Amino acid sequence: MLNAETLENYITGSRSRFEEMLGQMVEVPSISMDPVHAGDMRRMAELAVQYLTDLGAEAQIVETGGYPIVSGGWTTGAHHPTVTIYNHMDVQPAQEPEWKQAPFAFKKENGLYRGRGATDDKGPALSALLGARFALDEGTPINIRLLWELEEEIGSPHFAAGLKNRVAIPRPDSVVVSDTIWIAKGRPAMPYGLRGLIGARLTLKTGTKDAHSGVTGGAARNPLAELMEIAHACVDAKTGKVKIPGFYDDVVEPTKAEIKSFLKSGFEVSRFKQAYGFQTLRTQEPAEIMRRIWAAPTFEVHGLTGGYHGPGVKTVVPGHGELKVSMRLVPKQTPEKAFALLKKYVGKLNPSIKVEPEGMLQPFQGLFEGPYVEAVKRAAKAGFGKEPAFIREGGSIGAVVTMQKAWKVPILFMGLSLPEHGYHAPNEYFDWGQASSGMKAFAHYFAELGKMGKR
Ligand SMILES: [Zn+2]
Repeated sequence: MLNAETLENYITGSRSRFEEMLGQMVEVPSISMDPVHAGDMRRMAELAVQYLTDLGAEAQIVETGGYPIVSGGWTTGAHHPTVTIYNHMDVQPAQEPEWKQAPFAFKKENGLYRGRGATDDKGPALSALLGARFALDEGTPINIRLLWELEEEIGSPHFAAGLKNRVAIPRPDSVVVSDTIWIAKGRPAMPYGLRGLIGARLTLKTGTKDAHSGVTGGAARNPLAELMEIAHACVDAKTGKVKIPGFYDDVVEPTKAEIKSFLKSGFEVSRFKQAYGFQTLRTQEPAEIMRRIWAAPTFEVHGLTGGYHGPGVKTVVPGHGELKVSMRLVPKQTPEKAFALLKKYVGKLNPSIKVEPEGMLQPFQGLFEGPYVEAVKRAAKAGFGKEPAFIREGGSIGAVVTMQKAWKVPILFMGLSLPEHGYHAPNEYFDWGQASSGMKAFAHYFAELGKMGKR
């Protein structure tokens, strides 16, 4: 196994290199959402290739039809297991007025690294990279590949196309994704499941224009009221229970062991409420909240448009309306089936409503037990001093599902970000504590995989 002292010295010795690399990366505004930054995206890819090459890896830019993927790594032997580390190098926009500094001017203060992309996901990528370099220096019998996407923040539209290039992006024996957030500082939490998603637009047109209710009301149909009736038929607004027939048929309920593991994550109801500005919730029970946000499907109403939205009341009967909804899905549900059930149900209740899908993501179910999970647990314990809780995520990461479909290999998570780091928020930062412990955890994880051998 790895020598603790050598690793400690390596990490201390790597600090300035880590800070220099992170600083340069943060200062490239790689905002995939904004076409103005196309040049920066290219610069980001080139810088990433340079860093990998500087550390002795082979690396290349892989074209995808959109922004490229950076792929690289070290090969130590064909009989050794190959692991791919997934991170992304694109970032969220940073126009929020709350920024206390220029978001793309890297600022280092007291072990904190400030700037857009520092925690999502450039800092974690570099921690994994330096952890990998150490494991290889120590002669770990493993092939390590880095896969750095540049379109994660826009839903990975060309990632699947990129993965088709099996020469530049070979299929590994397992994957580790480092792009997730713990629930609480000091309590490592690694997800093993993600919810899926299907959005839908329900539109109803009953006239060519808005009419006066004094003149037409009573005889005119009201599309907004009809759409509200549909929303009511689909979901019990008080409990959140979805009422679409067949909706829960394929749901796999979390086991007692899973719920027990959720409870180790450091989740607190008060902090959850504060973080999202909630005054009240549907339930106060921590285990039930975690089950609901991570392991249960939902039906949400996001918007209802049409009619009059100005001050006061204007007595129009709208000619059309649109209801925007989505369903979060859990393992074994599929967006295709959930949409079909919705469409069939709405069609039966109100055939004049048009139902159209919008955005589809499959849920992901990873490993909750077995040798890979044990390896993550031991590595996180070695890095962070505490065994991680295995939790699920309520959101979706499209790239994860794409890798699972393309490769059919175990996908594990080792996220390094904390809730206070400000993912997708103003004043984003990363910190040396998470970076250095992360390097340690990754180095140990690679050693664990080396020990497991090719499976
Ligand atoms: Zn991210």
